[in-house]
Amino acid sequence: MKLRFLIILLSFGALTSRAQLLKEKEGFTHADSLRGNLTPLRTCYDINYYHLDVKFNITQRAISGSNLFKFTATEDFTKLQFDLFANLTVDKVIYKGKIIPFTRDANAVFVTFPKTIAKGSKDQFTVFYSGKPTVAVNAPWDGGVVFKKDSLGKPWVVTACEGVGASIWWPNKDHLSDEVDSMLISISVPKGLKDVSNGRLRKVTPLADGYTRFDWFVANPINNYDVVANIGDYVHFGDTYMGEKGKLTMDYWVLPASLAKAKEHFGINAKPMLKAFEHWFGPYPFYEDGYKLVETPHLGMEHQSATAYGNHFLNGYLGYDMSGTGWGKKWDYIIIHESGHEWFGNNITGKDLGDMWIHESFTCYSESLFIEDNWGKAAGQEYNFGLRSGIENDSPIVGPYNVNKEGSGDMYPKGAIILNMVRTIINDDEKWRDILRGLNKTFYHQTVTYNQVVNYINEKSGKNLLPVFDQYLHYKDLPILEFATVRGKFCSRWIANAKDFTMPILVRVKGGEYKFITPTTRFTPVDVEGANKDNIEIDKLNFYVGELVD
Ligand SMILES: [Zn+2]
Repeated sequence: MKLRFLIILLSFGALTSRAQLLKEKEGFTHADSLRGNLTPLRTCYDINYYHLDVKFNITQRAISGSNLFKFTATEDFTKLQFDLFANLTVDKVIYKGKIIPFTRDANAVFVTFPKTIAKGSKDQFTVFYSGKPTVAVNAPWDGGVVFKKDSLGKPWVVTACEGVGASIWWPNKDHLSDEVDSMLISISVPKGLKDVSNGRLRKVTPLADGYTRFDWFVANPINNYDVVANIGDYVHFGDTYMGEKGKLTMDYWVLPASLAKAKEHFGINAKPMLKAFEHWFGPYPFYEDGYKLVETPHLGMEHQSATAYGNHFLNGYLGYDMSGTGWGKKWDYIIIHESGHEWFGNNITGKDLGDMWIHESFTCYSESLFIEDNWGKAAGQEYNFGLRSGIENDSPIVGPYNVNKEGSGDMYPKGAIILNMVRTIINDDEKWRDILRGLNKTFYHQTVTYNQVVNYINEKSGKNLLPVFDQYLHYKDLPILEFATVRGKFCSRWIANAKDFTMPILVRVKGGEYKFITPTTRFTPVDVEGANKDNIEIDKLNFYVGELVD
């Protein structure tokens, strides 16, 4: 998620998008910087383990509990920052059995320790907190806790917090760059309900106060925003998949009323998804934690090893095909897209929210690879091309760094088209697949930067792709290929924003075979026999470039 480009197509979303743009013009707040910036108060510790233990009082719409932070000091320090939204109360912070002081500033909390924590040492503290968390009214596009009832009137309460951040409902070091290595999630719910969180269910404990605690253990590094509580009258069914790393458990948690539909619908989508994505991206990255789909009252979210599903057991995106080609109606958008994030977003995570394209561009692109795996390359290409109608070219795909801000919603469709274009430039499908698998292997369970991803693709491709990524990700405008006769020779040049822009592109004399030329920003002769201004054609199916306006 979050599919801003589609929101624009949906009626309620047009407002969200415009409001977002207005907000951007206003600039960034002190709170944005506290959240988005990696100050020494945050880089001084590396998170190793969380034990989140929270009780959901559904009638009061309140939560209370604690989170244990186990960390390794990366510097000597006495003070650190963690994050918790200001509307939630920090009841106390406990260190070695004693209460230690803290101060608050916006959604940040600063804790001071009684002695210096020495670089390299492992230590821990526990934050106790309580209050009424933000209620999400338009999840997954806002964030917080969704309080709903199912069709039988039973509570259905889930969390969703991508973008806004996990500190909207639990205390943590809320920055994408630091993923906890493993985590125990204990969620206590009123008797009769179940909680489904990430990883594997370890234990169910009836508590004296009439609540039931569900302990879920995540054995792999996990993004904060992926950590989830799904509380409802869930029923379970399961399956297994024999994949590249052996037997993968597939667990499905749905409401009783959905059971028959889910049994028919989930397997048809999820197994071909695993087959396609393991082929293109390598092994599912979380075998230890299993693969899960959990029915939710909101549309969906890539909650690691517990994908949120709310697409009503329909193909398409709520029945809609975003490409307009028909290929998007042959599969369930939410199952395929959100599961694609297990590789791009959950396995490989951007260090800064400004690089959300690492999550969304690759995942949006994965949709066409899923189609290709099932219906052939031409079908995947057609779908990918169809996504162009959703592009706005309104602002750069890479957002500003250190302020917890995403770039343009173009990171979805335009990002997918750029990646397909890069594949065309590389002109070797096996090499392209090796690059996609190589990314998932090289950056396995890591947080990464723009440079790491782009340099990796550039190096492995053997092509000069740095200017291509620079232009398409850092600037809103498309490069334009200009043709002109210069000193009697038919020439071409790129008009672009990126410094020293150059990109190979396929052109032909009308009706002939396409051939690669590699123009620069200076006019050079077009090396295609017989080409002139009137008969030259660009391969506009594979290359997304601008038009020269006379
Ligand atoms: Zn997504």
